[in-house]
Amino acid sequence: MTVISTAADADLCAPLPVLGSDVRVPLVTGGEVTYAALDYAASAPALQRVWDDVAAYVPYYGSVHRGAGYLSQLSTDLFEQSRAVVADFLGCRADDEVVFTRSTTDSLNLLAAVLPAGTQVFVFETEHHAALLPWERAGDASVTYLSAPRTPEQAVASLDVALHGAPKGPKLVCVTGASNVTGELWPVRELAAAAHRHGARIVLDAAQLAPHRPVDIAALDVDWVAFSGHKLYAPFGTGVLAGRADWLREAEPYLAGGGATRTVARTAAGGIDVQWHTTVARHEAGSPNVIGAYAVASACKALREAGFDGLVAREQALLSALRAGLAAIPQVRVLSLFGEDSARVGVLSFTVAGWNSSHFAAALSAEYGIGVRDGLFCAHPLLRVLAGAAQDDPGECGAPDAAPGEASLNAIRVSFGAGTPEEHIDRFLSAVRTLIRDGA
Ligand code: PLP
Repeated sequence: MTVISTAADADLCAPLPVLGSDVRVPLVTGGEVTYAALDYAASAPALQRVWDDVAAYVPYYGSVHRGAGYLSQLSTDLFEQSRAVVADFLGCRADDEVVFTRSTTDSLNLLAAVLPAGTQVFVFETEHHAALLPWERAGDASVTYLSAPRTPEQAVASLDVALHGAPKGPKLVCVTGASNVTGELWPVRELAAAAHRHGARIVLDAAQLAPHRPVDIAALDVDWVAFSGHKLYAPFGTGVLAGRADWLREAEPYLAGGGATRTVARTAAGGIDVQWHTTVARHEAGSPNVIGAYAVASACKALREAGFDGLVAREQALLSALRAGLAAIPQVRVLSLFGEDSARVGVLSFTVAGWNSSHFAAALSAEYGIGVRDGLFCAHPLLRVLAGAAQDDPGECGAPDAAPGEASLNAIRVSFGAGTPEEHIDRFLSAVRTLIRDGA
């Protein structure tokens, strides 16, 4: 069965070439099949273009900001050029900074570490743990957890009310652009407007948004954006925090070490006097991951050149087919906060009546060579809301085995992106139907 077969589909762009598209995996039933990677939301495969760029650079690899030799100079140039490419990709304002980190988690923890004294943080309980948890650990910050909204409008209204009643002082709102569980798009522009109306700043967790939609920091009017290279087809250990320079420049360095310092000298009293950089280097102590930064920049360029219009059209065609296919299976319940018809990126979670989600995901892998994710997706409070449940400790994030009482929280997530061929969605739907029909 071909899921995409309308006349309009003739205009759909081809999938972007990615690594791993010809990986063969063994099936429990015997034989083998080409792997269908439908777990892009966890980590997307590398774009072929990214791999080619990295492979072409690696022979010239050298230490950044640390050497007089030719390759060191070259690597330093490439590292700084990569920063400029990312700034351009994100539509950064002239005085924004782009800090290379390890991941979105690292980026948001960095921001938490530079909050001015007494910052009040506002965050919806529905966030990924990376966006939910760093703030309580941040000095004297206080955190207001907002209940899960059931519409995008409710999200804006509830933030408005919370900020309206908040005492004076620095405030930060942290919000996702697209949910890693439901794939639903959040009203970022409106939330940013609400934040700014009340003198608050806002950081956008774009871990799931950036691979699927253009993210323009100035047009969205957000103060910072965080994302991960490995979800943006550049799996080489780099993340990004981009945005306002002032909080970053005024705070203590995130890491203490070489590269973050201007001068270090012994004091007369026998101690150490450190003058830290006031530029972005302040938060990039240690030898930077130049390959990771170069890979992220390569992915940014590749997505730009491919064009988000075409990528989004293709993604939405696959998503429509996926939704229609799942809607036709009565045992399947698609999870959603804003309603089943809400706008989403290519990320969707569901449960199957009568099935343990972990077993279902394992069967998709073992019997059909399809890689999805099951579990709680590092968003336990959201899963509780979606399950309509209030239970104690649901276990480790992503734990394969649900303990008694936890099974109802677990779900199965299917996610895809620019490299996904139609056949993977076809195979997935057909496997879901067959598994349900034939039982465990
Ligand atoms: N935010 C969202 C919405 C995510 O989906 C994820 C990862 O799945 C993260 C943050 C954390 O990203 P990373 O694990 O790359 O730090």
